[in-house]
Amino acid sequence: MKFDYDLFVIGGGSGGVRAARLASAEAKARVALAEEDRMGGTCVIRGCVPKKLMVFASGYHGHIEDARAFGWRQARSGKFDWPFFHAKLRAELDRLEGIYRETLKKAGVTVYNNRATLVDAHTVMLDDGRRFTAKHILVAVGGHPFKPDMKGAKHAITSNEVFLLDELPKSILIVGGGYIACEFACILNGLGVEVTQIYRGAQILRGFDGEARGHVAELIRERGVNLHVGTDILEIREGDDGFWVKTTDGGHRTYGQVLFATGRVPNTAGLGLENVGIEPGRRGEIPVDDYSQTSVPSIFAVGDVTNRINLTPVAIREGAAFVDTVFHGNPTKPDHELVASAIFTQPEMGTVGLSEEDAREQEPIEVYCNSFRAMQTGFAGRDDRVMMKLVVSQKTRKVLGCHIVSEQAGELIQLAAIALKMGATKEDFDRTVAVHPTMAEELVTMKTPVRTA
Ligand code: NDP
Repeated sequence: MKFDYDLFVIGGGSGGVRAARLASAEAKARVALAEEDRMGGTCVIRGCVPKKLMVFASGYHGHIEDARAFGWRQARSGKFDWPFFHAKLRAELDRLEGIYRETLKKAGVTVYNNRATLVDAHTVMLDDGRRFTAKHILVAVGGHPFKPDMKGAKHAITSNEVFLLDELPKSILIVGGGYIACEFACILNGLGVEVTQIYRGAQILRGFDGEARGHVAELIRERGVNLHVGTDILEIREGDDGFWVKTTDGGHRTYGQVLFATGRVPNTAGLGLENVGIEPGRRGEIPVDDYSQTSVPSIFAVGDVTNRINLTPVAIREGAAFVDTVFHGNPTKPDHELVASAIFTQPEMGTVGLSEEDAREQEPIEVYCNSFRAMQTGFAGRDDRVMMKLVVSQKTRKVLGCHIVSEQAGELIQLAAIALKMGATKEDFDRTVAVHPTMAEELVTMKTPVRTA
């Protein structure tokens, strides 16, 4: 059978764009890609990129305070100019979207600015009625923020809308304790918004190392975020002066804005999965095997829509592994082991490998951990403490987990991740000479375990 394309990609985010580009430019396949929204997906348009630019913006207030403590006595921060920053942010996203489009064009990918749905194992339909056949279909449609079902939920915004605000509210209530909630609590706090964060569990950042979570929570509070755990919201009502919110602890208050950062769900509704016989998983995700292949042999899926590890670089690797498997005849499983990540709170948290809690379930461990005042912030008179932690296997001596809470922890953990990926032992860390004076030297100078388990 002759197909219109060798590959039809649905979704122009990180995973879809990478797969389309590689399949077309390197494997010389005939490739089309459909995207209903802006090119670049969550990461570029309403996620990592604009978020990180906001992280930078929000850090300057503290830097200016520190500069004064270092002798720049005239330094003054004043009020943050959101409209100025926002215009620059929008222009930067336009620029990046342009690059994505240009890259696809240069690679020879045909782009349709339409929503596409699945018709059968080899056919997609665009929202204008056009139909195309393809030997392979790659679904890379990502996810969207989830809002809990409650009275007045429609009044709350999500991370999608934060980037579109015309002005910053005076106060905001952020609901959730995951990556997005914690990052935006710090960002908005740094930009001068009065931030309250409410999390239903006992401690934010569930699933991460317990000590690191506690450390981040303490520092977030010290920096001014009004963080409440063990409580949830019940109802939101719109009033003249903002949004009135009632919480499960019996409290109520009015905020300028309410932000739900309560997780994300795969974009599978209305995708036509039922037409091809793919049964979505419990959270609506597309189940795939180790090679990102669905139950329909010609249809693959990568990225957040598969709800494996929902991170941009993972989606990119999955897209590349798909191309190796299908178009280069080299079956490749994307590697989901020891994926490092950073939570861009202030200070940041970088993490790779097992938490102490998970490691001790697995085998006997030693824990090396130190918390100290960094030279720079200490001199500036800030009370911030850096935390460096290694979780080590007693038997193999391998470092099973590394957790860092500090300025630039995202940068540091990337390098630690290489060592862990190579199987570094505690003794490999020990015989590495320290770079002095740095915060990270602590990683190679912790001599005595603080506990064994
Ligand atoms: P997360 O899954 O990380 O966190 C969701 C939070 O919302 C949890 O604290 C969860 O609580 C809470 N929650 C869920 N449902 C409800 C509810 N019905 N009522 C109240 N609270 C609720 O999701 P995020 O939205 O923060 O981020 C989505 C994903 O995006 C992340 O998991 C990550 O993969 C990715 N991401 C990565 C970033 C990075 O690398 N820096 C940055 C941002 C996002 P509980 O813990 O009790 O379930």
